[in-house]
Amino acid sequence: MAFESLADKLQNVFRNLRGKGRLTEADVKAALKEVKMALLEADVNFKVVKQFVSSVQERAVGQDVLNSLTPGQMVVKIVNEEMVKLMGSETTEIALKPAGELTVLMMVGLQGAGKTTTAAKIAGKLKAAGRKPLLAACDIYRPAAIKQLQVNGEKQGVEVFSMGENHKPADIAKAAMAHARKNGQNVLILDTAGRLQIDEAMMDELVEVREAAEVSQTILVVDAMTGQEAVNVSRTFDEKVGVDGVILTKLDGDTRGGAALSIRAVTGKPILYVGMGEKLSDLEQFYPDRMASRILGMGDVMSLIEKAQANVDEQKARELEQKLKKAQFDFNDYLDQMQQMKKMGGLGEILKMLPGNMGGMNLNKKGMPDLSDSEAQMKKTEAIIQSMTAKERSNPELINPSRKQRIAKGAGVDIADVNRLMKGFEQSRKMMKQLPGMMGGKGGKKGKF
Ligand code: GDP
Repeated sequence: MAFESLADKLQNVFRNLRGKGRLTEADVKAALKEVKMALLEADVNFKVVKQFVSSVQERAVGQDVLNSLTPGQMVVKIVNEEMVKLMGSETTEIALKPAGELTVLMMVGLQGAGKTTTAAKIAGKLKAAGRKPLLAACDIYRPAAIKQLQVNGEKQGVEVFSMGENHKPADIAKAAMAHARKNGQNVLILDTAGRLQIDEAMMDELVEVREAAEVSQTILVVDAMTGQEAVNVSRTFDEKVGVDGVILTKLDGDTRGGAALSIRAVTGKPILYVGMGEKLSDLEQFYPDRMASRILGMGDVMSLIEKAQANVDEQKARELEQKLKKAQFDFNDYLDQMQQMKKMGGLGEILKMLPGNMGGMNLNKKGMPDLSDSEAQMKKTEAIIQSMTAKERSNPELINPSRKQRIAKGAGVDIADVNRLMKGFEQSRKMMKQLPGMMGGKGGKKGKF
């Protein structure tokens, strides 16, 4: 997981700070020295670290903080606030023209940074937001790039404009604009060629495309795994081509985090989105405050809530609540719930976003909860329910021993597994009957969210 080592180190420093009842100036300075080391080891730009630590120190050694009731907490709060500031404070959206006009976005970056993938991810987001995007293949040097864009565009249901490899990128971009205007598309996304390293010819070509296609936003895609190099690349692209915003990819890998923490401060350019995986849905808006909370171990509860809201069907949730209240839920509901959870990325994804320790869970080598058992159990349960008939799912009382045998066979499990599921199911139903208050009924408390 990204930031793992940085988060570990910072949380350690803060645990020590919070453990102390009173803090002296020397305590704070010693803690900040450790923060500084942790940031440098995470490959955060040296100047950025220096500035960051001095801002925190200036605010943290004041008498207000040291004499407060919870000085440790106050210092953590200041670090959090400064970290949010470092990453730009506000969430920045890609600037689009009104829907009646054509916005041209140019994706630039080194080869392998994730441009082509990200172009398709963005197209999907724009389409979901009601825009009419068109993708254009201006990378004529890597023949596979055109095909890759076409495959991804198709997956997103977004048209891809291509003229093969025998035209100049600037000409392709111009033709794509004309095509978009003719077909009522209002955002054109240009996928351009990258090189392994910065080179003049590439930069000149990008400037040519930018001018030919009246580009309104140039979006730089950088690989977070490359750390400081990502920061250097951003600076150079900005100097030579001009960059309006940055998308950091591969933040799902174990990047040390330096790029995310330095890019804004060094280049002054906002991070717009972060790539969190290879799938076309793995692109998240960048929230400096949530990222800081993630790094400082406060969990990313807001992201989790949003993810749940995007995936959970409200109507279904209300129906289920009614059924739960009356203890009427059946195996169809059970299956539904498991599928909703899967949509959110499974148990592991959900737990990763929750704050605090995950006490009582087995941890794997990386210190994360070992969910292989629970996930395997979920798969088994799903297989069992899927091998029930529709009638059995909605009337579980029909399931007699001979039906159990058939179900077990169909799911490829032991009959004991079916018995266990039936027993658990009955117990949950009983519990629901006994605890109507818990489900928001009379006198009961509403859920946390
Ligand atoms: P391009 O050369 O800049 O167009 O890069 P591609 O779009 O071809 O991406 C290079 C590789 O990185 C591909 O294997 C992508 O699947 C992968 N990739 C892109 N974005 C992400 C991301 O956010 N996370 C992960 N894990 N892989 C990514």
